Amino acid sequence: MTLPIETHLLQACVSEPIKPVLDNVVTFGAGHFYVSQSDKGEMVMGGDLDGYNSYAQRGNLPTLQHVLTEGIAMMPFLSKLKMLRTWGGIMDMSMDGSPIIDKTHIEGLYLNCGWCYGGFKATPASGWTFAHTIAQDRVHELNAGYSLNRFNTGHLIDEKGLGTKTWIS
Ligand SMILES: Cc1cc2nc3c(=O)[nH]c(=O)nc-3n(C[C@H](O)[C@H](O)[C@H](O)COP(=O)(O)OP(=O)(O)OC[C@H]3O[C@@H](n4cnc5c(N)ncnc54)[C@H](O)[C@@H]3O)c2cc1C
Repeated sequence: MTLPIETHLLQACVSEPIKPVLDNVVTFGAGHFYVSQSDKGEMVMGGDLDGYNSYAQRGNLPTLQHVLTEGIAMMPFLSKLKMLRTWGGIMDMSMDGSPIIDKTHIEGLYLNCGWCYGGFKATPASGWTFAHTIAQDRVHELNAGYSLNRFNTGHLIDEKGLGTKTWIS
């Protein structure tokens, strides 16, 4: 099956631990940056895709510099912190930035993919609607919009999901 999915890289990074300064997640809406503080005190940060297709599971430093520049614009104290580690993972980016949770034309084969940046925070709803779809062999009303066919009919999901061309949204 040909899927409307591209594989992109996304990096995240973690600073040395500091005393509590942040008790929620803050995002930089003018660009793309997010930060939260872990229980251990580390600042956990990330942002934009690296911007090219790859399965390499490692990112490049210019992207990290770009992302952290946005963070420092918002919270200048971040520039004082030493970085402990960075990592890159692969993102299954759909064309409208929203996932596909659906049956396929192959009996017994179901799709739950295209989660882009947000796959683990959505796990409860994703798991619940997907379990319903598999058990009943039909989509639940809550995942009806997340069909594979929307990319054929043009009924893309118009929300702030960030697709592969993040600068367009
Ligand atoms: C740096 C980074 C930061 C992120 N931050 C967030 C965040 O803050 N919040 C959030 O909600 N989401 C975040 N995500 C996204 C989230 O991690 C993904 O959306 C989520 O993990 C996707 O879950 P999945 O089960 O669909 O796929 P995956 O977690 O990728 O699982 C797919 C599994 O299939 C296995 N596999 C692949 N090929 C085969 C094969 N041929 N045979 C058998 N097994 C195979 C893989 O090894 C893997 O274990 C982040 C991702 C990255 C990379």
